[in-house]
Amino acid sequence: MAGQQYSQPMYINPNKQRSSGRDALSMNINAAKAVANVVRSTLGPKGMDKMLVNSVGDIILTNDGATILDEMDIEHPTAKMIVEVSSTQDNVAGDGTTSAVVITGELMDKAEEMVHKGVHPTIIAKGYKMAAYKAQEILENYAITTTKGDREVLEKIAKTSITGKASESYGDYLPKICVDAVTAIEDNGEVNVEGNILITQEVGGKASDTELISGIMLNKGRLHSNMPKKIQNAKIALVNAPIEVEKTHIDSKVQISSPDEMSACTDREESQLKEMAESVISSGADAIFCSKGLDDRAVHYLQKNGIFAARRVGSSEMKSLSHATGARLVQDVNELEETDLGTAGLVEQEGEFDNTKTYIKGCPNKIVTIIIHGGTEHVTDNIERAIDDALKVIKAVVEDGKIVPGGGASEIEVALGLRDYAVSIGGRQQLAISAFADAVESIPKSLATNAGFDSIDSLLELRTKHSSIENAGINLNTGETIDMYKSNIVDPLRVKTQAIKSASEAAVMVLRIDDVLRSQKQSMPDVKPEHNVNTYEGMTPPQMPGRR
Ligand code: ADP
Ligand code: MG
Repeated sequence: MAGQQYSQPMYINPNKQRSSGRDALSMNINAAKAVANVVRSTLGPKGMDKMLVNSVGDIILTNDGATILDEMDIEHPTAKMIVEVSSTQDNVAGDGTTSAVVITGELMDKAEEMVHKGVHPTIIAKGYKMAAYKAQEILENYAITTTKGDREVLEKIAKTSITGKASESYGDYLPKICVDAVTAIEDNGEVNVEGNILITQEVGGKASDTELISGIMLNKGRLHSNMPKKIQNAKIALVNAPIEVEKTHIDSKVQISSPDEMSACTDREESQLKEMAESVISSGADAIFCSKGLDDRAVHYLQKNGIFAARRVGSSEMKSLSHATGARLVQDVNELEETDLGTAGLVEQEGEFDNTKTYIKGCPNKIVTIIIHGGTEHVTDNIERAIDDALKVIKAVVEDGKIVPGGGASEIEVALGLRDYAVSIGGRQQLAISAFADAVESIPKSLATNAGFDSIDSLLELRTKHSSIENAGINLNTGETIDMYKSNIVDPLRVKTQAIKSASEAAVMVLRIDDVLRSQKQSMPDVKPEHNVNTYEGMTPPQMPGRR
């Protein structure tokens, strides 16, 4: 039973740490709460930032929930499950990562209280599932359906997402750029942000210089001044391997005893490189982009044949080039064929020396590039994370056409609805459903706390004014309760439904664990490597929750 201390049964490897029943539950609850507590203070436009320093001293300054948890290198298995909540949220909805984790932590906190009061975790889990289901329904009914592609709405959505992340000083131009980008690549109501929008950073200049261009821009140019600077209707080859003579992986010595042998050796290399260049030439390519090195001797043959070549092109750029031009990413240049080539209306280099750029435009598939400018790399990184979220929320609204008022309004609606529902259910599950309502309310509470207001006062006012003021949420500048929709603070419905879904699923999963068996680290001092087995024969290894 819960709370009972188990002695280690004989058949379990003594090198395993075991916690069971109430111990396991409280350990897991604490881990989930700890993760939520890390990100809680970053929630909302007034949230604080975290400074993350990795093992090589690189610094990340961010208030993006998913990034913080990703960079924290969390080891605790349950905490890892909570981190997964944020990555799922990021993948499905693109925003709301902090909210999802905060709600999860709060659900665990409430569960702990109920367990102390004698409610069995299974009852709590059932109540949470019912509440999550009901919450989806409440949100669906509360959502406002927008005209698909309504620019004004999309800009509001993008702005709320960006101000939740980066500073409000980015004003209206970043949301506008994001909406332009998404509408430029939208295809029959579908938006492929990863495939069709390329983001590059240029440190220097102001954030307001951030721009959107159609096509792809690479921060590099041709490898030889004799290569063409501008090609119209270009056939494009993409090579994902070095166009160089392969070096041996082990230290080897070639003994050369005469000048003839020396020249034979270089001749062999030369002919190999020539063969590679010939393969490009005979494919009919006008331009080649290589993701790895490209030997100068091969460059020589390519320029002689009027072919444009660029090397060490980044992997995301290679993918975008492939997507846009229709070219196949070839793994061996000797196998390049005409059918592997893609096309572009224009390949053009601008600038010289350090300031060279290549534009690839007029591709068969729509593609745009957002070029981020900013004073330092931290600024551009932050803008990139904000843009990344904004693009995904715009995508969500373009695809679903549904939004909800932000600033805690939708959470209050859910909480009030759930409390009514709890009464109608009765019994012990009523407790769990009401607790779920409290947990969802942690969002407006945290928004208010982070803006320096009293969370209890703000919450009480929100609840009481919910019926008199439509879409009542918190104005984080004044602490007043205002109509969020009229104030243009709106979130996609998908962000809110997903946050509740992933938070409740994670909470239910954690509540159902009553045994944790943890293998000792491999470096146990008295365990010889060959005997360092973690399970005895016939026992399947315990499945630790989480990814690994
Ligand atoms: P998340 O990672 O959960 O998206 P954010 O830090 O981006 O966390 O905060 C999102 C929350 O902030 C949402 O609930 C959103 O409605 C709210 N929000 C954003 N801008 C404002 C604003 N200007 N006033 C009030 N609430 C806002
Ligand atoms: Mg956000």
